[in-house]
Amino acid sequence: MTEPAPVPDALLSALRARLGAAQVLTEPAALAPHLVETRGLYRGTASAVVRPADTAEVAFTVGACAASGVPIVAQGGNTGLVGGGVPRGGIVLSLARLSGIRALDPVGATLTVEAGAILAEVQAAAAAAGFLFPLSLASEGSCTIGGNLATNAGGTAVLAYGNARDLVLGLEVVLADGRIWNGLKGLRKNNAGYDLKHLFVGSEGTLGIITAATLKLFPKPLSRAVGFVGLASPRAALALFARMRRAAGPSLTAFEVMPRFGLDLVLAHRPGARSPLAEPHDTYALVEFSSLQPEAGMEAALAASLAAALADGTAQDATIGASEAQNAALWALREDLSEAQRREGGSIKHDVSVPLARLADFLEEATAACLAAMPGLRPCAFGHFGDGNIHFNLSQPVDMDRDAFLAEWGRFNAIVHDIVVRLDGSIAAEHGIGLIKRDALQHYGDPVGLDLMRRLKAALDPADLLNPGKVLPGEAAAQAPG
Ligand code: FAD
Repeated sequence: MTEPAPVPDALLSALRARLGAAQVLTEPAALAPHLVETRGLYRGTASAVVRPADTAEVAFTVGACAASGVPIVAQGGNTGLVGGGVPRGGIVLSLARLSGIRALDPVGATLTVEAGAILAEVQAAAAAAGFLFPLSLASEGSCTIGGNLATNAGGTAVLAYGNARDLVLGLEVVLADGRIWNGLKGLRKNNAGYDLKHLFVGSEGTLGIITAATLKLFPKPLSRAVGFVGLASPRAALALFARMRRAAGPSLTAFEVMPRFGLDLVLAHRPGARSPLAEPHDTYALVEFSSLQPEAGMEAALAASLAAALADGTAQDATIGASEAQNAALWALREDLSEAQRREGGSIKHDVSVPLARLADFLEEATAACLAAMPGLRPCAFGHFGDGNIHFNLSQPVDMDRDAFLAEWGRFNAIVHDIVVRLDGSIAAEHGIGLIKRDALQHYGDPVGLDLMRRLKAALDPADLLNPGKVLPGEAAAQAPG
């Protein structure tokens, strides 16, 4: 990749004149938090962080950068896990000030919000009007809806409601040349030509800057039951999931799995955490049934399902939360796992998915291959089992230096991704490609699919100024044939 053009003083002056001097940050201390990604794996450079207040100011900023040939990296909450928001020269365009709720339509059940709105605030705005906005991630207190859409975020509600892509009806986007595309329709049916919004969802800031979105709202579930199940293996968890999905259908709203090592980490690193089961098990499942009816008997349905699984040996032990407080405590055991693993030392991550029927094969094969490559390694494969999405994380051996372990990241990625691809899975399930998987996508991606991606990039961002070098190698626009 060639060095990005230096940011001309005249551009910074023009941005200060339009946005106000206080919204064009150039002091190193003000830039610092925008230059590093959340896990500290990448550190970038930028000449300025620009903080427009509305869509017109975003359009002005993008247009002015285009005229000067200056690259732009959009940032929401900067919680992304693939290095996608790390700048490599040019400017950071922060959406933080575009945080308003524009409209709530209770009849159409839609909510129109600006891109920089924090996900938890979007959920709260929906709840205040008696609705549910179901997207839910552990980072929801700091990630933004624009970032969620730009990464097509997943999280814990995908089983029931789908990914971010499934929750959006319309988008407003600033294009690479500074024009504004107003696709903010709240229609459930709209086949008037190509569905352009889906080009931008999951494009990680490489095709346009999302400035607002019209989102789908749902009725709030009025009752739920949460169970914590001890199992002999991931294969047994898969059998339990298949049985529960058949029996409970849409009432089964979450099925998350973690290994014994994962629960041990939470118990070790979170003061006051207790295992809800008397004996340790190889594998644990966190199961949620919920309903729109207040007295739907979810607890009885979950209890019956678990009793059958215990009777035929599919499950070894199980408990059900007896109150909302206990339900939340069971969920916390799953939600606290990433943080507990971070406290345990270095961890090499793989956010992958495979067809559900092959999930247990994947876990067995990948675990054996990684342990053969480094005895003493501590696999911690957990996550959104019901979506076929596993965070196949590897904790460092106890006596190994953290940096020496993290230096092995590429070697383990190759081992794990080879197995994922052979099993017809995806090397990037929910966090995206960004920088961290860009070269892997080139290696494993379908050549025709990659060619289409390059052509789209060239069509929408011919000068390669929107988040260059992310998702596709730098100057993808220039490399596109024709
Ligand atoms: P950022 O990190 O700021 O940006 C992410 C990418 O989107 C970058 O490429 C950026 O350039 C681009 N971008 C941001 N805003 C815009 C915009 N308005 N227009 C165009 N491009 C834009 N992710 C999941 O999918 N599921 C999970 O369960 C999950 N759990 C997480 C738990 C923790 C503790 C953490 C730290 C992260 C987790 N993530 C998860 C990852 C992350 O939170 C999501 O990717 C989130 O959607 C990113 O939102 P953000 O506002 O922080 O985006």
